[in-house]
Amino acid sequence: MMRFDIITIFPEIFDSYFKESLIFRAQKKKLIQIKVHNLRDYTNNRHQVVDDRPFGGGFGMVMKIEPIFKAVKSIKSRVKSQESRVILFTPRGRKFNQKTAYQLSKNDQLILICGRYEGIDERVAKIADMEVSIGDYDLMGGELPAMIVIETVSRLIPGVIKSQLLKERIPSVRGRAGRGFIEYPQYTRPEVFSPKKGVSWKAPKILLSGDHKKIQEWRKKHQKIISS
Ligand code: SAM
Repeated sequence: MMRFDIITIFPEIFDSYFKESLIFRAQKKKLIQIKVHNLRDYTNNRHQVVDDRPFGGGFGMVMKIEPIFKAVKSIKSRVKSQESRVILFTPRGRKFNQKTAYQLSKNDQLILICGRYEGIDERVAKIADMEVSIGDYDLMGGELPAMIVIETVSRLIPGVIKSQLLKERIPSVRGRAGRGFIEYPQYTRPEVFSPKKGVSWKAPKILLSGDHKKIQEWRKKHQKIISS
């Protein structure tokens, strides 16, 4: 079973997201386990403060290292894991893609540190195995990146989605498993959709032909291999 431990100051953000759909089912089937940890529980001050002013001055606040260090240490000591990785979310990190997701799916525990405020004390990087960015844009926190990583990695765990789907869409691209995935256009009923009078948007006839070989050829012609 793959275990995800999220360290955040906003644990409730995750409440509804992980209680829906395939991610919820994966937890029920004990294929994955998701634990959300409130960083404030790892402070030792009365007001549960997790941030402070930046050295050198400047706007905003910086997340302190002590509570994060304590949280990671405590989670590691409680969970027996063979292959555990600590991931720190930062826009300066390695760009997340399918290949990274595949590599991460080989672990049995991912500890995900979600930043907030103007950033995190740089020394936190010393306790992380990997700094990950989900793209060249600045978010308000690491919670959405954590959801993205959990969803992408979970899809690759056998049994979470239908294995045929995984085989068809995430085959070995250029002979190397997990390096990419395949996307092609999809259609469903109705065969003809009319957005306004005199206009009709038709699904390609070939997809309704029942000719499996021709359908495969069509999909191959229109497919995009998203590799990394
Ligand atoms: N300049 C700060 C930095 O370099 O970390 C940005 C701080 S941002 C307002 C707050 C937090 O959101 C970051 O500490 C990080 O955890 C998360 N974050 C923002 N954009 C991200 C991205 N593109 N990928 C991953 N995490 C991101």
